[in-house]
Formats: sequence, structure tokens, C-alpha cells
Amino acid sequence: MQFAIKRLARSIIGLGGRLGQSMRPRGSGAELAVFCFHDITDDPARFEMEHGLAVSSQVFRAQVQWICENFDIIHPNDIGNPASLPRRGALLTFDDGFHGSFENGIRWLSSCNLPCVMFLNMRTIVERRPMLSAIVCYLERTDERFRVFADSIGLRRPYYLTATPNALGEFEQRHGPIELDAALSYQGALADPATLETWRNDRNVTYGNHLLDHWNAAALTRPELEEQYERNERMLAKIGNPSGLFAFPNGQPGSCWTNRDVDVIKRLGAVRVFSASGRVNRSPGDFVLDRIAIGPSDDTWNRLWYRYLRARSRGPLPAV
Ligand SMILES: [Zn+2]
Repeated sequence: MQFAIKRLARSIIGLGGRLGQSMRPRGSGAELAVFCFHDITDDPARFEMEHGLAVSSQVFRAQVQWICENFDIIHPNDIGNPASLPRRGALLTFDDGFHGSFENGIRWLSSCNLPCVMFLNMRTIVERRPMLSAIVCYLERTDERFRVFADSIGLRRPYYLTATPNALGEFEQRHGPIELDAALSYQGALADPATLETWRNDRNVTYGNHLLDHWNAAALTRPELEEQYERNERMLAKIGNPSGLFAFPNGQPGSCWTNRDVDVIKRLGAVRVFSASGRVNRSPGDFVLDRIAIGPSDDTWNRLWYRYLRARSRGPLPAV
């Protein structure tokens, strides 16, 4: 299936004629590079610029062309059968459900018959509220009272990795409701429920779990993490068959997730968990797979090769 996907994609995006040189046999020794995108937009919001989350449509297409040229893009359904994976496979993923990632990313990928996974925080979509990271970054940059409060209760910086539901609740009790509309403008637009509905039956689009609100898993108690996963999973189930794919918000082992969190998510039924610390997966059958985040500075094939080869040189994910 992967080769068929690639052949069609090539013919559409103008890479025909070079298929033969990159056909690779399958079997043992397969490697899987999982690429992680966020927003695809020519008009990024401030939060996206501060965190390198937005890639222009033109750069995105060039990045995907590089991936098509050098990897065999797989469908997420193929992850469950590692023996069938190509020698140098790639999986395309998006995080957070930005509006532009659907309009400028998924729409084009699907027209090229290229599959991807979108990891969603369903509360942000359904209630039209910013993700937790953006709320905390917004407060940190605009509200002196928040900085004083955070320091007074011992939150370490960056606050979006250490903030807890209790801490944010206490801040709102003391100082009143957070200006969510302003935080949303700072963050950038997310998709709406109608957009999710539009893509739910597209065979190239798979939805995954990214926690309900995008809290940092390592900052949550076990019951909080369970609730964030399960409520999000229930909301995802309403718009399609659950994929069992889960991506930790923020993604770094240790500061963002630990083995405790992996155990919790596994016990709740996930079939694969994704990190984001820039490694190529040399054992694609592992339960925890790593991802390589691709951003606006990865705008030439040389830079993409550099990022990939650096990722490939790293050892396996550490035990945390
Ligand atoms: Zn995220």
C-alpha cells in the first residue's frame, strides 16, 4: 500500500520518473522516521512564531517532497504490522489541530493521497478555547500577577511545563477569569468541530489523542492524567473510530513525560505512544515511538538532511 501511495503522490506533486531509485525492500532492519508538524500557514500568530510551530504552505510542500523523495510514507494503520514496514519508512503527523494544518496541510496531502495522523486536544476544538500551553505562555508574557503567583507557589520555568490544574484554578480564584479570547488570538486559530467532521471519513486522515487540554503529562497526578486521556478519548470516539494513537504534549522524555505516564496511557488502551525528542525509530515495533519536529527553519533539503541524520545518530529513548 505504501508504494502505491508514493507513486500517486509523486505523479501529483511532480516527482514522477524517480520512483525506481528509491524502492526499498522490506524486512528486518526497517527504520521509521515520524515527522511532526504543527500549523501550516502564511500568517502565523505570535505564539506560533515564538515556538517555531508554523510552516508556510510553500515550505511545507517542499518538506513533504523531500520526505516523498527519500522515504516510503506509510499509513498509520501499518504501524501495527512492523514486519510489513519499508526499510526507510516515514509517518506524517500533526499536533494540536490548528486551522491551517487542515486547510493548507491535510487538504493538500489528501489530494496527493498521502496519509497522516492529527493529534487533537478535543476540549480546545469543541469549546473554542486555547490549549493550556498557549494560555500559560499568554499569562506569562502579559500578566505580572501571574508571574508573581507562579513564583510564589514554586512553579519552575517554563511555566507551561509545570503548571497544574490546581495552580491555574487557584490563580483564577484569586484574580478572576483568564481572558481566553485574547489568549486565543495570541495562540492562532484551531480547527472547529465542522472541520473535524469534514475529514473524519477521509481514509488519509487519522485522529489521535493529545490529552483533553494539552497539559504537560509530567506535571499531572495519575488521576488527572487518566481523566485527561479518557475524556479526550471519549470525545474522539464521537467523531470516528479511536485509533489508539497517543502523542504526549510537548514531547520531551523526562521533562514532559516519564515511564509512569507511559504505563498509565498503555493501561488505558493506547496501541502506540509518540514522543518528540528528535530520534529515528530503529525498532518500529516499540510501544513508544519518537518523532522529529519539523519547523519553519527546515526550509532546504540540506537542513532537512542535517536534521534527519542528527536524529538518526541519536541513541534510543532514555528510560525516564
Ligand atoms: Zn501539542
